[in-house]
Amino acid sequence: MLISVRHYKNSPVGKFRFGNQKATGGRLFYSEQTMLPMKTRLTLLLCFVLASGCSVQHDSMNAILWIQTSAEYQSNSEMVFNVAESRLTLLRDKQDVTADIDQAKSFGCNVGTSCPGLAAAGLIPAVVLDVDETVLDNSVFGARLIENGEQWKPGAWDDWVSEKSATPVPGALAFIERARDEGVAVIYVTNRRCSVRERISEGSSNQSCPQKLDTLENLVTAGYPPLASADMLILQGEQPEWDSSEKQLRRQHIAKRYRIMMLIGDDLGDLASNIKKTSVEERARFVSNHQSLLGRYWFQLTNPAYGSWRGALSGKPAQDYLRLN
Ligand SMILES: [Mg+2]
Repeated sequence: MLISVRHYKNSPVGKFRFGNQKATGGRLFYSEQTMLPMKTRLTLLLCFVLASGCSVQHDSMNAILWIQTSAEYQSNSEMVFNVAESRLTLLRDKQDVTADIDQAKSFGCNVGTSCPGLAAAGLIPAVVLDVDETVLDNSVFGARLIENGEQWKPGAWDDWVSEKSATPVPGALAFIERARDEGVAVIYVTNRRCSVRERISEGSSNQSCPQKLDTLENLVTAGYPPLASADMLILQGEQPEWDSSEKQLRRQHIAKRYRIMMLIGDDLGDLASNIKKTSVEERARFVSNHQSLLGRYWFQLTNPAYGSWRGALSGKPAQDYLRLN
């Protein structure tokens, strides 16, 4: 006889293993002859639950610990920005190439390949960066959610944005300073969302989008050079037509004046449009089809805490996505 045991993600019960486990079809099976007697197993399980105070580990614990404590996180971010920095001069001078799929299409060209019409347009070379978990590290906010046993909520996030305490992502500052030195425009496109606050920040002149002022200030307190103009930071909902978390229209707005020579972000949606909300399989296929752009025109940072990758895990329990063989 085989007894099936459901493996609950991140629960102490799910991590409690004994006997010989065999993985079959998304479930863990235990062979009867290798198992302890049922009474012993139940006693052990009860002891474990009582010892753990019946607490269940927060969903983001490992991800936030990785960001906040691992040298690997630091090294990964530094690596991405080092590679991007090594491409700055080359891409600035390649006036006939864009990193943006839509901008290439508007000239009848393909992304990452020579496009004479683009060169003739004489656009200003620009790097387009996401903000959160690309240049600003918000892991303190994530850590507070864990500490308080809370999940992400818009109000709590807006309080965090107004605190302006996010810190720089490793490697980003040196990259942005180098981009400016190379005469490349630096433009931020973020899904921080404009919304009216009942309590307006002191000195805020932009009452319809206090989040913009907060973000501009946070970038400076994190050590980034002040923006050449407030237009170089574009928030979600800053214009009525920019209400979507899809960044396509905002990139199209940038593309009227700038040649998007490089895209940098922690989410697939920072690199391309209408892909982040597709399935796990479609997202993987998209990356495979565009792998030649990665590390050359597109630069992806790692974010295990949140992102559209989590949204793709829908339609069935998350543990059903685990590959067991
Ligand atoms: Mg981000």
